[in-house]
Amino acid sequence: MQFSVDTFVPVADGVFVAVAEPAGVNIGVVAGPSGCLVVDTGSSPAQGAEIRLRAEELTGVPVVGAVVTHWHYDHLYGVAGFAGLPTWAHETVPASLDRPEARRASAALGVEHGSLAAPSDTFSLARVLDAGGRRVEVVHFGRGHTDGDVAVIVPDADVIFAGDLLESSGPPSFGDDCHLKEWPSAVDGILGLVTEHTVIVPGHGRPMDRLAGFTQRAEISGLYGQVEYLVGHGVKLTEAYEAGEWPFDEATVRAVLPLAYAQLAAEGKVPRPQLPLA
Ligand SMILES: [Zn+2]
Repeated sequence: MQFSVDTFVPVADGVFVAVAEPAGVNIGVVAGPSGCLVVDTGSSPAQGAEIRLRAEELTGVPVVGAVVTHWHYDHLYGVAGFAGLPTWAHETVPASLDRPEARRASAALGVEHGSLAAPSDTFSLARVLDAGGRRVEVVHFGRGHTDGDVAVIVPDADVIFAGDLLESSGPPSFGDDCHLKEWPSAVDGILGLVTEHTVIVPGHGRPMDRLAGFTQRAEISGLYGQVEYLVGHGVKLTEAYEAGEWPFDEATVRAVLPLAYAQLAAEGKVPRPQLPLA
């Protein structure tokens, strides 16, 4: 597995983004007068430590802490590299390290699972953080890509880090732990703060503007709405792809359909045979 952290580039005054591999994840740095805050920590403790060092070289001020946008390995597994500093995440994140998928991710990365650290400070809804004299807000707008997504808002720069609630490098990542029905309203929390000048930094891919954010929100909502419609009309999972109109590519849709059907079934919505019209 090839680990690397690309050059930090400015996206606004004192706000920088670098891409970390192997997952192509956006790492943010918000620089204040006396310290800087890191957004997402990379895929291993060593990568987290590298990000911490690079953030200090970049800004010339000490890192005061890091925020983790959600529990997936590419955002969380660098936390141990920030030892001695506060690291913030939604309250669901620490326990997620015990999930079997989290252990599988460590094994695939070649990272010793026991070397990982959980974030030191958690919250349920929102926190205001001091990024070395600069105000940063972290907000959980509800479940979406995971059960504990947080957006990181830099009001004076009009920048919002969206985590994987939004992505511009491809379709959003619909893992088994996502919440399809609730996802659009979590994105609405972000879009409600966005102006025509806002820079939205997605979890993966280049910065997005308001229109791109609204478009992807509509696509996520459209996907779920289409499945709900098909289920309501008695269309079985095996026939769903051909029967529907989809906002994403075939591979993405086929991968997410079983999950969408399962999430609807959990609400008691299953395809029932339709009576033929007389
Ligand atoms: Zn993710």
